[in-house]
Amino acid sequence: MNIEDNLAKLREEIPDGVKLIAVSKFHPASMIVEAYNAGQRRFGESRPQEFKSKIDEFLGMGVSYRPVSASDKAWIEWHFIGHLQTNKVKMVVPYASMIESVDSEHLLRAIDMEAERLGMKSDVLLEVHIASDEQTKQGFSESELLEFIDSLLYSTESPCSSAGSNDAPFLHVRLRGLMGMASNVGDMKQVHDEFEELHSLFNVVRERLKKADSPLYPCSIFDTLSMGMSHDYKVAVAAGSTEVRVGTAIFGSRQ
Ligand SMILES: *Cc1c(COP(=O)(O)O)cnc(C)c1O
Repeated sequence: MNIEDNLAKLREEIPDGVKLIAVSKFHPASMIVEAYNAGQRRFGESRPQEFKSKIDEFLGMGVSYRPVSASDKAWIEWHFIGHLQTNKVKMVVPYASMIESVDSEHLLRAIDMEAERLGMKSDVLLEVHIASDEQTKQGFSESELLEFIDSLLYSTESPCSSAGSNDAPFLHVRLRGLMGMASNVGDMKQVHDEFEELHSLFNVVRERLKKADSPLYPCSIFDTLSMGMSHDYKVAVAAGSTEVRVGTAIFGSRQ
């Protein structure tokens, strides 16, 4: 098992426009260094504590979590992909290039508040529950998602007039797209159908953002459809994924 070879194989298989997030959760920093030395610059972690401590380890090696100059090619884009509790957002918001697992309005609100406190904008994906198996219940259902998007777009007249109100818009997050996980089944036809469904939903949301033409939620940055893992990334890419999250096929199995 060779991380560099695994990455090379994946890069050959994944089209140029599709981003590869190397999911390094549960693996030691030394393995991330191996991937890093092979040119990988995007990593995904799923636990706040581990996310933060790995970022600290890399900071210690002089590798930042954001570009330190316009020509900086050494920094790492860290994606947070796991369940996030609102009391842990402080560990994640300052460092994440993208938080992919926003599964409730409540969490989005907490991220928004923390980003506001830090004077930054936080890039997020909304997680949608597309799998038919009951193991992963996380995420918005399709109808919840559409309802939430509509509430964002139409419930407020202006960002200023709504300060402090319950339906204040989220001014410190940038809605970048959707994330989802297919059922963990061998039936690739089912997996494909689930990914197709998420892709359609992505297009529907994009259209609504476009139609609403809101400066707060521009469709121009709604550009990310994160789907596909080690066992189903090919199916996900065929169904329109713009970003795959691959762990085992790069680093081997987790402890
Ligand atoms: C762990 C994880 C992955 C990677 O899974 P592999 O099967 O190891 O590729 C992708 N996405 C999420 C949300 C994960 O938690």
